Amino acid sequence: MSPPPREEPQAVTLRRRLAELRGPAVAPRPLDARALAALAANPGCKRRALLDGAGVDKGALAAALGSPAAFGQSQFAFMRGNAFEARVKADGGTELMRLLHQAFGVPGEPPGDVSAPDLTAAGPEGRAARTALALREATASGGWALLDHPMLALEVAGSPAYLEPDAVVVHPDGTWTVVEIKSFPLIDGSADAAKVGAAARQSAVYVLALERVAEVTEGAEVGHRVLLVCPKDFSNLPAASVVDVRKQRAVTRRQLTRLTRIEDIAAALPEGTTFDPECSPEELDTAVESVTAAYAPECLAACELAFHCRARARAAGAVEALGRSVRGELGGLTTVTGVLAAAAGKEGDPADPTVAALLRAAALRAEALEGSTACR
Ligand code: SF4
Repeated sequence: MSPPPREEPQAVTLRRRLAELRGPAVAPRPLDARALAALAANPGCKRRALLDGAGVDKGALAAALGSPAAFGQSQFAFMRGNAFEARVKADGGTELMRLLHQAFGVPGEPPGDVSAPDLTAAGPEGRAARTALALREATASGGWALLDHPMLALEVAGSPAYLEPDAVVVHPDGTWTVVEIKSFPLIDGSADAAKVGAAARQSAVYVLALERVAEVTEGAEVGHRVLLVCPKDFSNLPAASVVDVRKQRAVTRRQLTRLTRIEDIAAALPEGTTFDPECSPEELDTAVESVTAAYAPECLAACELAFHCRARARAAGAVEALGRSVRGELGGLTTVTGVLAAAAGKEGDPADPTVAALLRAAALRAEALEGSTACR
């Protein structure tokens, strides 16, 4: 038997450094598609990139900092989601295949003969290998196949992340389609844009992972249009729509490339920095603040550290706390104090379009207030 491949010295050093950052007794938290998608949604945040790359439990870190996250699905929502998914996949996936057939505009009758390979195996590595084999066999067979909860592996920051889409459908022409089943409603054919965006980013992660398998599978191609299945108009009946994830895939891919450089972010940290939840809140606060963040209100729905980062952004008077669009409109003005001073004519160049707009807005506000006082 040949000896296992030896790890590169650089990889060993990085692994040790990341273990120090997590804390010696803390097991790495595996990355999932949701975390990778959230990372892609805020590509400017080095803090999240480092913490996720090092496998830090951000929920435990937030609690140790005194800002626990009110984050995640309630038990009721979780159970409702599971029941809806079971309904969509019932009867060997008949309804799911009908929805896919209809949404993709495939001519003829919905496929009746759909294979459903057994994907059980020991551990995530075994399941990922079993999934890859099933995908190859299904593609070679030239028929329809429905893979229920396949396991995919994607290398992130030098170690594999294991990802589990709701389903993957193999078409007779060798196309693989990711299926995401969500419990938010599709009303009159459209859903909450933010939720669809999050689902698209999550699906893009699965597409990237599937592409690794497709590269070594003859005749396979990963579709960039994914099938999103949701309850129809608050009922329990499923409805489907097709979402093109090419843009999200490109952003996620770029982000993952950045993630592989977490050694650069880690190297810039002061000696001895650790995010071990056993440390005091003061030590953790210093450690967290030593990595730059890019807070935006969207973090509240996507990151366990959101309350901490929001408090820091507000304390610093950073305009980021008001939202990305407001931040974008304010140009070079980065603090709320600076914005108020510019609006009062105390700071800034009146020829600057941002300052001019603020002065005009302040004048209109004063005029409106004067009018409302006069009416009393
Ligand atoms: S909450 Fe903080 S750490 Fe998380 S993504 Fe936002 S800025 Fe980054």
